[in-house]
Amino acid sequence: MNRAFETVLELSRDLYALRSAVGVLSWDQETYMPPKGGEGRARSMAALARVMHQRFSDPRLAEALGAAEAQPLSEAERVVVRELKRDRDKAVKLPEALAAEIAETVSLAQRAWAEARPKNDTAAFNPWLAKVVALRRQEAECLGYAETPYDALLENYEPGARASSLRVLLDDLKSKLVPLLGRIRAAQGAAPDPLAGKSFPIEAQRGFNHGILAAMGFDLEAGRLDESAHPFTEGTHPRDVRLTTRYHENDLMSALFSTLHEGGHGLYEQGFLPEWYGTPMSEAVSLGVHESQSRLWENQVGRSRDFWAGRYPGLQATFPAPLAGLPLDAFLKAINRVQPSFIRVEADEVTYNLHIVLRFELETALFNGDLKPADLEPAWNESMQRNLGVTPPEPRLGYMQDVHWSCGLLGYFPTYTLGNLRAAQIFEAARRALPGLAGDIRAGRFGALKAWLGENVYRHGRRYDGDGLMEKITGHRTAAGPFLAYLETKYAELYGI
Ligand code: ZN
Repeated sequence: MNRAFETVLELSRDLYALRSAVGVLSWDQETYMPPKGGEGRARSMAALARVMHQRFSDPRLAEALGAAEAQPLSEAERVVVRELKRDRDKAVKLPEALAAEIAETVSLAQRAWAEARPKNDTAAFNPWLAKVVALRRQEAECLGYAETPYDALLENYEPGARASSLRVLLDDLKSKLVPLLGRIRAAQGAAPDPLAGKSFPIEAQRGFNHGILAAMGFDLEAGRLDESAHPFTEGTHPRDVRLTTRYHENDLMSALFSTLHEGGHGLYEQGFLPEWYGTPMSEAVSLGVHESQSRLWENQVGRSRDFWAGRYPGLQATFPAPLAGLPLDAFLKAINRVQPSFIRVEADEVTYNLHIVLRFELETALFNGDLKPADLEPAWNESMQRNLGVTPPEPRLGYMQDVHWSCGLLGYFPTYTLGNLRAAQIFEAARRALPGLAGDIRAGRFGALKAWLGENVYRHGRRYDGDGLMEKITGHRTAAGPFLAYLETKYAELYGI
């Protein structure tokens, strides 16, 4: 290892150590921090953010990266240098004053959203949205972009993605999902939900969820499962990965799918190679790839017949009163039921991506100036009616439902759909590579799948971008085909369509 690269490693490990500290603070804020701790915590986080920015702008880092690059490096070392340069460039291109203005504005905008949403107060919310969009546009101009300013935002969450190719991908997906949705709903009929209104004691749910996480191979000595209002994963370090789920007495599947989802994120965070801890080689490619890992476990595995063929008897034994009389087939139909709804986070696998396509279309129009915040509500409602056949009766169930825009997270939504599409694509490749996979899943053995994901996804860190990784694993860039084929097969089997 050359001397300059050793300096790079040292500086990188310091940066990642600071990031770990921020991770623990923000995890704690969402789980155990007492309500009055908010102000002090915000100060600590802002102070750490300033220290990290100083470290990125430190000329020693730029010098070390330049010197390391000029010498022979291994392939993984080149990845570390390339990705640190990318992060450094982004950090130093954004003027400190603008970064501070964005941080302050989104914190106020988020508070304004939280107050305005329950009251449907669009007049209070829209000016904040306009402010956030204007600041993000300034940011895009500072950072630079490939084709359109929106690409600069995508770069924050999905390096290498372009609005133009996303549009092609999402248009293709939408044109096929809308008719598929119609066919599934016609076949489903209006059967009542057999799980609705039943009671599932929370202590028993806790036991079942911890059992699933352990079976997946999540190392509970190098991570935790706690509870929070909105489930999330905070990878503070590959040996300290914090997951949360949430339990509702009347909703068994909410916690189960959250645990599988966050467990998928958690396995990724625990799966990096120890020799690269503290560098971009021990970090996820992008949000879209991270989400592919959570959706793979939640949907490809967790909503499958194979998974429940093995596990349903145990679930019935844990909750005999509500489940004893419910056959596996009826249970599978219930957990895969398709039902257009107003709220994205409650959506099923088929309609979910239509919620995302709508957000992508509207936020790009908003960002390009083709749509004003005041015109969002009618545009949103018209699009909901056209694609999902429902019109939200009020803005809090419509364009004001998500926290993302008020937080400034423009360009973030598409990563959810990239995750869904990639999950299907990656799982298809895993099935080809592991002929015994279906049998393993029925038997509750996940070791081979986890090892295959480790070999093909986890250990690469940020070696490839999202599409590069997909090509490497599946031979194709991100595409809608495998996801659509997966849905077709599932619903053909469930309803004979
Ligand atoms: Zn997720």
